[in-house]
Amino acid sequence: MRGQVQGVGFRPFVWGLARREGLVGRVLNDSEGVLVYAAGPEAALDRLEAALAAEAPPLARVDAVEAGPWDGEAGLSGFEIAASGPAGAETRVAPDAATCPACLAEIRDERARRYRYPFTNCTHCGPRFTIIEGLPYDRAKTTMAPFPMCADCRAEYADPGDRRFHAQPIACPVCGPRAWFERDGREEAGEAVALAAAALMAGEIVAVKGLGGFHLACDATNADAVARLRARKRRPAKPLALTGSEAMIAAHSEVGAEEWSLLREPAAPIVLLAKAGAVLPEALAPGQARLGWMLPYTPLHHLLIDVVGRPLVMTSGNLSGEPQAIGNDEAREKLAGFADGFVMHDRAIARRLDDSVERVTPAGPMVLRRARGRVPGTLPLPPGFEDAGQVLAMGGQMKAAICLTKNGQALLGHHLGELDEALTWEAYEAALADYAALFDHHPAMVAVDLHEGYRATQAGAAMGLPLVRVQHHHAHLASVMGENGWARDGGKVVGIVLDGLGLGVDGTIWGGEVLLGDYAGFERVGWLKPAPLAGGDAANRESWRNALVRLDKAGLGELAERLMAERPLALVRQAVAAGMNAPLSSSAGRLFDGFAFALGLAPGRMSFEGQAGMALEAAAEGLAVTEGWPFEVAGGVIDPAPMWRAWAEADVAPGVAAAMFHEGLAAAFAGIARAEVAAGRARAVALSGGVMQNAVLQAALLRHLEGVPVLLHHGVPANDGGLALGQALVAAAGAEAP
Ligand code: ZN
Ligand code: ZN
Ligand code: FE
Repeated sequence: MRGQVQGVGFRPFVWGLARREGLVGRVLNDSEGVLVYAAGPEAALDRLEAALAAEAPPLARVDAVEAGPWDGEAGLSGFEIAASGPAGAETRVAPDAATCPACLAEIRDERARRYRYPFTNCTHCGPRFTIIEGLPYDRAKTTMAPFPMCADCRAEYADPGDRRFHAQPIACPVCGPRAWFERDGREEAGEAVALAAAALMAGEIVAVKGLGGFHLACDATNADAVARLRARKRRPAKPLALTGSEAMIAAHSEVGAEEWSLLREPAAPIVLLAKAGAVLPEALAPGQARLGWMLPYTPLHHLLIDVVGRPLVMTSGNLSGEPQAIGNDEAREKLAGFADGFVMHDRAIARRLDDSVERVTPAGPMVLRRARGRVPGTLPLPPGFEDAGQVLAMGGQMKAAICLTKNGQALLGHHLGELDEALTWEAYEAALADYAALFDHHPAMVAVDLHEGYRATQAGAAMGLPLVRVQHHHAHLASVMGENGWARDGGKVVGIVLDGLGLGVDGTIWGGEVLLGDYAGFERVGWLKPAPLAGGDAANRESWRNALVRLDKAGLGELAERLMAERPLALVRQAVAAGMNAPLSSSAGRLFDGFAFALGLAPGRMSFEGQAGMALEAAAEGLAVTEGWPFEVAGGVIDPAPMWRAWAEADVAPGVAAAMFHEGLAAAFAGIARAEVAAGRARAVALSGGVMQNAVLQAALLRHLEGVPVLLHHGVPANDGGLALGQALVAAAGAEAP
């Protein structure tokens, strides 16, 4: 069996099947997966083979079952679990998994040994990646090493018939980690969960040590508590994630079947769900139609929710811009100004992992932030890359994540954040070493972005290995092709890549592109007519600057003066005219920013990346608009000026205007892409780039692309978190081209 079959209870599962079928032989881990030797009646062997994939344990993913004859051995009398063969580091580490139903029942059962024990887990659930310090994966090389098993736990651990057989983090109240509640560095007497619950119900803010880092929690139904949390974190608008039981989620959201199954996956990601039913404080996600919810994913979180009986805010515990705190002392120091109390425990976090963030669009699930529960899952490289060498791809500057390829698999690392921030940069460097060790990776080649100013690019160039520089939006295109298993010789695809910023091959900044190409190369067949980024970096934070330059270009200077009379327009216009700090950009993201500002949907200065785009999407959501604003398309250049003029003359509500914006933009880009397919130059259309996280835009594009094969992102982020996968594929394709 190949796939995610190690460290997930696969060997005892096979042992159980073999005993059921009366087979003799053995099962072991080897460098490629799990190897089974079985002998017995033909029919029983067939049943075993069928059951291997069909009945696999919850955390397993079986990519392939390859069967062949075995002559058997003399003297076999039973079926055994054999010691592992030579190490095969690349497949041995599984992602962290949410508490399974059996363990949940156990912590709620008064008669059970683990009643109310916050660190209960088994082979089918519990921490993995966040506790591993080295390979091979066994207890001695995890942060559970300081907790010797008691006799009862040891017996469970050694029994192949027990669901805790070889569960490395196995623990109980006698031998395992302990949680406590503290204020001002002093532990309070009593049960941690009960004390924390009382504090939360009194409106206090509590730091909670989770799997991949500390969270800040408060009562999500208490508007004062939420406001206090926002004020202390100096985070005015960015949505806060929530956790609650299924009943709580259902009471406040509209949850479709696909969303329920995503919430209930062992990865337990944050899922963006439409607000519905009982109203929660607006301050949780100002102006948003959706709230991010996750189910409790550790026993500690379950116990807390059980006691407080209401949803909790569960937002990452960090100083603004910095990565989440993971150490107890680090949390005491950094979160003292935020939290009234702390739920601590004495199991160390080996590796910082944010919560994953995902959503379901009409076209399926979409990962926005790939982290806890998803990494270090691997994905198979597309056909034609089976023999690709080992590549290390460094990713971009924002939403940094690296990618490693080896043995036909790609390991896309977890979301690290913005590399400008010193501590995030440290985390990035640590991740490079960490993944190299875990994956036993020795790259023959390094892939980087074209942008020399990216720290990731500089670090890649300094490695002294063959270097491949990959254009940013080509990497986005290759990423979505790769995720969809597009064969290396599968022909060209036309990619609509709508993004924030990325350096183009002509030295201007791209971000609203139509690229025709494959893994090995591309040409630019369409783009948004460039406008200056007035003030350079300032244009990425201040939406009004993008409104100004676009209005001016449309001949609507007077309207700009009315809309933003209080801004330093003359100064900015002078700088733009002189070409000072005003690089040209075809960025779709900045056009979204400018239009959201003009509609009054986004503040002039945004408090988090993507704020304006999210506001524009939220305003347009659910409005059935069939006519879009006119975007002029000539020679592949999409000019938004006519749409600004049409909007200025019309009298429509902001929501309708936003919907018409999505519709018009989609029609223009889809038109160019369709033409490439119709002319036989491309075999499919691919959608990528950060702007593609917008479900309204995605739906409009899919409508305009009906009848054409379309490749979409699902498990790999459309934003720069998925960039490294594309970089790796482009590098592999270029390096091996005949
Ligand atoms: Zn379990
Ligand atoms: Zn124990
Ligand atoms: Fe990008």
